[in-house]
This record gives sequence, structure tokens and C-alpha cells, in this order.
Amino acid sequence: MKIEPKQIKIREVFDGYADQGDDGVFAYGGRLAIRPPYQREFVYDNDQAESVIQTVLKGFPLNVMYWVKASPDSYEVLDGQQRTLSVMQYLKHQYPITLDGKKYYWDALPDDSYDAIMNYEFMVYICEGKESEKLEWFRVVNIAGAKLTEQELRNSVYTGAWLSDAKRYFSKRNCAAKLLSDKYITGDPNRQELLEKALRGICEYQGISEITEYMARYKSDADADELWQYFQDVIHWVEKIFPKYFLDMKGLDWCHLYNEYHNFAYNSSVMAAEVKRLHEDEDVQKPKGIYEFLLCRDTDPFAGRLLNLRAFDKRDKLAAYSRQNGICPICGEHFAFEEMEGDHIKPWSKGGQTTPDNCQMLCKACNGKKSDKY
Ligand SMILES: [Zn+2]
Repeated sequence: MKIEPKQIKIREVFDGYADQGDDGVFAYGGRLAIRPPYQREFVYDNDQAESVIQTVLKGFPLNVMYWVKASPDSYEVLDGQQRTLSVMQYLKHQYPITLDGKKYYWDALPDDSYDAIMNYEFMVYICEGKESEKLEWFRVVNIAGAKLTEQELRNSVYTGAWLSDAKRYFSKRNCAAKLLSDKYITGDPNRQELLEKALRGICEYQGISEITEYMARYKSDADADELWQYFQDVIHWVEKIFPKYFLDMKGLDWCHLYNEYHNFAYNSSVMAAEVKRLHEDEDVQKPKGIYEFLLCRDTDPFAGRLLNLRAFDKRDKLAAYSRQNGICPICGEHFAFEEMEGDHIKPWSKGGQTTPDNCQMLCKACNGKKSDKY
């Protein structure tokens, strides 16, 4: 890992400055991506931007900026994006600053102020190294400065054609992935949260333990078709299995559910009826668990835990205990109340409810051996 400090005049950075919208913002003779394609947009307001210009005009130091060397002759801004954009946008006459109570756009500035800005030097650390080293180092830098998300950090390291294409699908407010999945998956595309969720899903699907491993493997690919295909498969599967939409479907880990259960067969009209029935069942205290419950109940004897089923209250249990005279009906032994647990005589999964007449007390050992777990 090499970190090289360099002073770079604003005049040099401004050379070739071009804001290409979604395709990124470039400067420094086209060699610097101030904002790479499909990344979070400029968020400084005019006051913050003006204070950058005032700092520069007075010749005071701005905080150090970090550029990443992406290729032998190209860089990306890791930290300092908004300060750099503030300066560039002022030089493009996009907002005025106030001097002695008067508003000045760039072209109206007195000559000495003009020179003061153009000759001002940014203090830039240029870093170069293995991807894993950069990522580790960026995390440390990030604590102090730019507050990038984990996925934004990964994106600043694993650059290339694959990433540009992936961002096209996953990284804008109205990107295709957001439009497709908004009813089911939460996450701000601008903060790369949707991309992160898709990546986490496909990694699990392919048995890859780290997102960085996936990105390192595919970063030189021409496109991100595989990831986009996978993500579409997930959403289409959800829509097929659960054709009727409920609001509590939003925010579940659908990628994970797809990975786990997409090879099983489900009857969607049975599923629809079951979702409706469970939403109406007062014993179900965690409705968000209904979907995974229905996917796994045939294979997981403990599936009921997903619904946080209502338990018998103490009054019901005491009544059952006294009815049984403290005897466990399975082993026939006597136990203290505290050594016993409330149990559904007719299991909940067979239609039994959490009502006093369906309550019996079992000793812990017998309750643990029961095959109907819920
Ligand atoms: Zn017993």
C-alpha cells in the first residue's frame, strides 16, 4: 500500500471539468472521476459550498482529500468529493458568493481573487495498492471523514466495467432494480444499499462468503447481467409464490428466502389462502414471519417459532395444573408447577388454539420429546 501526498492546484483540477450527469463528473484533464458514474449525487447546499470558496479565497487549509489510483493514469475521489464539486461548480458560475455584502459570481470576481482561487493547492493523498489493502485503509479513513457506507467503500475499490453496469441497474433513485423490487425490498439505491442486498443474496446463492470476493472475481466482466438476472429471478419467484400482495411483505430478506426455498414446489392458491388465514389468527403475534413459515413448515419441525405464537398465560397454566393435580399426563409423575410447561392438547398446527380448555401441563422432559412442536 502506497500513500503519496501531493499538492494540486485548482487550475489543474478544473482542466477538462465536465459534469456528465449519470455518466459521472470528471476533471483533471479527464483523468479524475470526481463522481464516478451512477454514484450518490452532490448534497452540499449553497451555504456549505460558499464556505468552501471562502476558505479557499482566504488561503486557509481545507482538510486533506483522498484520491484512489484506479489505473496508472486515472483517479477517483474517495474523500473530498463535495468540496471539489463546490469549487468546480463555482468556477462554472453555478452560484454566487458574498464579499463585503455583495454577491459575486465567478466571472465578476476581482483579478486577485481569481488568481487566489486558481492557484490554491488542494492537499491530496493519492493511494495505490492491493484492493484488500485499500479497502482496509478506506475503512479507517472513513471513520474521520466521508461517512461512506460499506458498499460505497467496496465500490471505490472494485472499479471497472462490471461495477458501472451494476450501478446502472441498482444505484439510482429510479433505477430498474428499485422499480422492480420496491414493494418487497427496502434500501436506498443512492447509498448502494440495494446493490449490497443483491450482492449479499447472490453470494449466499453461489456459496461465496464475502461480497468483496464476488466483486474481485467479476470486476473485469463487461457487464453485470448475472447479478441483474439473479435479482429479477428473486422478485419473480416471490410474485409467483405469493401472488397476493400484503404490506408486511416489504423488508423481508427475500434473496435469502429465494436461496433457501426456490427449489421446492408450492401451490400458490394454497399459499394465498394460508397467508389470509394466518393473518386472521390471533395466536400469530409476528405476522412478518408468515411467509417464511409457509415456505419451511413442511421441512422444519420448529417452524412455529417464526410466528412468535402466543403462549398460555399463568392463569391458564395454574388452572390446568390444579386440574391434573400436578401429574404429568405423559409420564404419570408428579412435579412442582415451576417444573412444568404449558402445552397445546391439540397442537396449534392442527388447528388447536391458545384457549384455557386446550391447555395441559407437561413436565419439561416430556414436553421436549413431543413431536408436534407447535
Ligand atoms: Zn412427564
